[in-house]
Amino acid sequence: VSETSRIDPSAVGAPLDDPRVHRAVLESSQDLIVTLDLGGRITYASPSWQRLGHRTDDLLGRHALDLVHPDDLEGAGAALAIVTTGESLEAIPLRVRRADGTYADVEAAGTPLVGDDGAVTGLVGTARDVSERLALRGRLAELGVVNRLADAVTRARTLDDLLQEAVTAIIEGVGTSRASVLLADAEGVMRFRAWSGLSDEYRRATDGHSPWPVDAVDPQPVLVADVAHGGFDTELEAVIRREGIGAVAFIPLVHDGRLLGKFMLYEDEPHEWTEAEIRLCRTISNHLGSSAARFRARGELRASHRRFELLARASALLSVSLDVDRTLDTIAALVVPELASYCVVDLVRDGAVVTVAMDHEEPEKAAALRRLRAARPASSEGHPVQHVIASGETMFRPSIADASLDDPAHESDFGEALRALGPRSAVVVPLVARGHILGALSAGTTDGRPRLDPADVGLFEELGRRAAVAVDNAFLHLEMRRAREEAEGRAHAAEALEFVGDAVALVDTRGVVRLWNPAAAAITLVPAEDVLGRRVEERLPGLAAALVQVPLQPAPPGESRVRTLPVDVGGTERWVSISGVRFLGGTVYAFRDVSEERFVERLKSDFVSTVSHELRTPLAAVFGAAQTLRRADLSLDAPQRDALLEMIAGEADRLARIVEDILLASRLDAGTVTLEVEQVDAAQVAEQVVGAARSYAPDTVALALEVEEGVPPVDVDRDKIRQVLANLVENAIKYSPDGGRVLLGVARDGDRVRFTVTDEGLGIPPGEHGRIWEKFYRLDPNLTRGVGGTGLGLYICRELVGQMDGRIWVESTGVGGSTFAVEFAAAG
Ligand code: ADP
Repeated sequence: VSETSRIDPSAVGAPLDDPRVHRAVLESSQDLIVTLDLGGRITYASPSWQRLGHRTDDLLGRHALDLVHPDDLEGAGAALAIVTTGESLEAIPLRVRRADGTYADVEAAGTPLVGDDGAVTGLVGTARDVSERLALRGRLAELGVVNRLADAVTRARTLDDLLQEAVTAIIEGVGTSRASVLLADAEGVMRFRAWSGLSDEYRRATDGHSPWPVDAVDPQPVLVADVAHGGFDTELEAVIRREGIGAVAFIPLVHDGRLLGKFMLYEDEPHEWTEAEIRLCRTISNHLGSSAARFRARGELRASHRRFELLARASALLSVSLDVDRTLDTIAALVVPELASYCVVDLVRDGAVVTVAMDHEEPEKAAALRRLRAARPASSEGHPVQHVIASGETMFRPSIADASLDDPAHESDFGEALRALGPRSAVVVPLVARGHILGALSAGTTDGRPRLDPADVGLFEELGRRAAVAVDNAFLHLEMRRAREEAEGRAHAAEALEFVGDAVALVDTRGVVRLWNPAAAAITLVPAEDVLGRRVEERLPGLAAALVQVPLQPAPPGESRVRTLPVDVGGTERWVSISGVRFLGGTVYAFRDVSEERFVERLKSDFVSTVSHELRTPLAAVFGAAQTLRRADLSLDAPQRDALLEMIAGEADRLARIVEDILLASRLDAGTVTLEVEQVDAAQVAEQVVGAARSYAPDTVALALEVEEGVPPVDVDRDKIRQVLANLVENAIKYSPDGGRVLLGVARDGDRVRFTVTDEGLGIPPGEHGRIWEKFYRLDPNLTRGVGGTGLGLYICRELVGQMDGRIWVESTGVGGSTFAVEFAAAG
């Protein structure tokens, strides 16, 4: 049109009839112009055909349909037929072949040439090249798709959102019925991420398939126009066909030369993939490649941020607790569900692997996990945990295939639990602290959760390190607490040793005293400072001699074997019972002074023999007298019988007194003796006692009474004071076997009244003055001097005098007799 506008308008009008004008218009037209005869052959072609590479002369005589794209022949033929009937047609889209064999998009119109007779003689065809316009429109469409995609990139929250958007864009932009995007996973295996119009079955069957190797450099699209000739293996081809797919195109998704995944285009029927389709798809793919990479980077950044946060939280949480159980629970809680579906912590305790924490985000699967570990504990041979603990190296299974779960080699319990758990990926990291492998942390994902990737493994390793330090700290703390408690226990024990009544001495392996408690000092009369750091024999040769005789027990003490041995202590003999326990650092001796107990024991046995003797003597006399009286062959006269009867009475009386003494002594012990205190005339009591003694005193003993003039009375129990004095006088007589004078004196001493019983008998050595008052104590238990007694008399005297607020003592040098004195406050 722009060309025709150059024609001078003033020339328009008359010149239109001019054939030269016609020709000029034809020659200058941009449109492709032909005239055809009724048979469709070209009779004229305008110079503009040269733009398609044709020489106009070559076109003459050719059939117009020869220049039409085979796909457009039908429409073009029909149009031609219509025009030959005399109708005009406009704007038929056609593809017209260029000289080089390619096609130009044109919009064609046809006009019949009618003769003067009105009959159609031929036709004129004009065609306008719209290739560029179409290309432009195509580009605009692509741009629209790309813009939409760019928009989607900014809006998409997740990579999968974006990928789904890309699939939609491809379907709209390319015009295919179905499409999908697959991305390579951690191991480079292609996994469906977004799709449209594909069945689950098809995806399962083709998941992982890729026409390129994982490390392909600059992978190119693979176009399959007809699946039947695509070179797929029969099984795959069958799957594709079942899905109703006739043609398929693989468009690589590449970023930075790295194969990230692929786009898939599907056509239901066999289809020749056009450049435009592939170009659009690649444009989208390129766009998406960088976006996917960016998304991945953003995801990684977010993940690493999350990980950083998690580790920070882990450190904070783990440092709080020094309690082992709490620490382990914290670890499990950090992992599940944040990082993995499940988590198990195994620790090495006393050389064995023990599971100490276990958790799964779903309770049912937690049960399956427990069954799994029960069927195959971490302690079993070949268990991954064993391997990690032995090697100290992480074990990572990024992808656990379904097939491996169904392995018929699994025993039934294990297989059942494994399938119920449905692990998808698993990692086991060692728990290492201070160079020691404390155990292992196992974690993994199960069905319905993305697999762990290598970045996760690094996180678990880091978490494992922190957990190990925390566990280590908790154990250290526990150990420290135990040690402290033990030390405290020891300190308490040492403190207790200060107070125990038993002497405790610790002698080290070299015989040096290391511990000497106060009781030891008290018994041996040697203070700790004199003996600590020295050998026992240096200060206590007597004790050292005894210690070597003690049979030692190995620690811990069993039934202790105690030895009671005489030990010379400060010049006197003490009986000491000693036991010893040997331990690593030496020997602990425990000993106590049993002289007292031993003494009492001896007294008791002495008493038994004394009392039995004391009782037997009068009994024998009574028995003898009674026998004599019963004898029929002996005719006794009255005086003889009286003498025997008197003897029986006297001995019975003596027996009664012994028994009474024993009873009284035990009543005094029990504190059940009551006194009737009254004012008693001292002189009168003394007279009665001496009078009674006269009846039994032997002739060799001269009894005397000396009462001072005006002796005041005393406040005492009348019977008891008489019993005391009678006892003292009886002893004086008894212990004067060779006879002599026995004097009972009563005198005033200030505001007190004193009774004295003096004899010239055996005397009592000063060393025994304290002892004689003790129950059952006798100077001569073996009766070497033939004097009997129970040893109760003086005990009874002392107790009674004490109860009457008096004083009793003895004076004797041990030879030439003794004097016993009893003193009371004067009455009034
Ligand atoms: P018993 O006379 O029955 O043996 P006692 O308690 O009366 O018991 O006396 C205790 C011991 O004291 C006697 O065994 C004796 O050895 C000694 N004793 C008591 N009185 C005298 C004394 N007058 N002279 C010598 N020894 C005496």
